[in-house]
Amino acid sequence: MSVAFISHPACRLHHMADGHPEQPARIGVIADQLHARHLFDFLVHHDAPRATVEQLARVHPREHIEQLSMKSPAEGLAFVDPDTAMCPDTLEAALRAAGANVLATDLVLSGQARRAFCNVRPPGHHAERAKAMGFCFFNNVAVGAAHALEAHGLQRVAILDFDVHLGNGTEDIFRRDERVLLCSSFQYPLYPDFNPPSVPGHIVNCPLPPGSGSDTFRNAVSQHWLPALEAFRPELVFISAGFDAHAADPLAELALTTQDYAWVTDAACAVANRHAAGRVVSTLEGGYDLAALALSAAAHIESLMAA
Ligand SMILES: [Zn+2]
Repeated sequence: MSVAFISHPACRLHHMADGHPEQPARIGVIADQLHARHLFDFLVHHDAPRATVEQLARVHPREHIEQLSMKSPAEGLAFVDPDTAMCPDTLEAALRAAGANVLATDLVLSGQARRAFCNVRPPGHHAERAKAMGFCFFNNVAVGAAHALEAHGLQRVAILDFDVHLGNGTEDIFRRDERVLLCSSFQYPLYPDFNPPSVPGHIVNCPLPPGSGSDTFRNAVSQHWLPALEAFRPELVFISAGFDAHAADPLAELALTTQDYAWVTDAACAVANRHAAGRVVSTLEGGYDLAALALSAAAHIESLMAA
């Protein structure tokens, strides 16, 4: 069955500052690499809808949504933290990025697609319930997961986050919700400098020291994520797909390779095949070396199409 590829032109218009690593070109290089591999035309393409206030409000207070609307500038930039700013196109891009996850969830749960990749920005996993931060405004994957739980009535969804930064926002949102198994690997110490000493059993955190490479990452996934996933038996698997743990990435010091992203995707798909009718919804998070991002994301999507 098909793999959906969901994006929107607005995601290329969100622009924080010249030289900012979270740049519009990130979306384009992934699409270009899929063209180069002759994969692009085998994906089923959709424009992302805007997430509705009701869909966002499952994971964010309405005041957070209203504050971002009020902060949205008519021109120039409005900063929400020193690294994160809104331009006039940011709100539209953020609504489409969250809405992509809603559409992806609907497509895979209705059987119209087996898997989906959301090629969207701004990213989402640092966005807490009531706080935009770390290049993120709405928590895109959390909006999708909440849609699966509340609109579709699922009882168990897994979120796998291999971005090099801890997804503090996703953890904040689902810390008390045992319907969500959240498995993360991340460099520590590193932004957001958060590695809670104790977490509930449905949160599986794998901090990795700077310099860690393929073996350390794969061991963490094999020893911690996979047994938890097997025991949990998710009905749907979400992936916060950040590619900034790649050795070439300028924002961190892990040393993953392109092949590691194919490997972890194959492992996620194998879990989904056993427990979730193969259903996987993946969404772009970080990844700031454009060449490494393009190759890693393409390897990830190729695995989504094959496994
Ligand atoms: Zn990141």
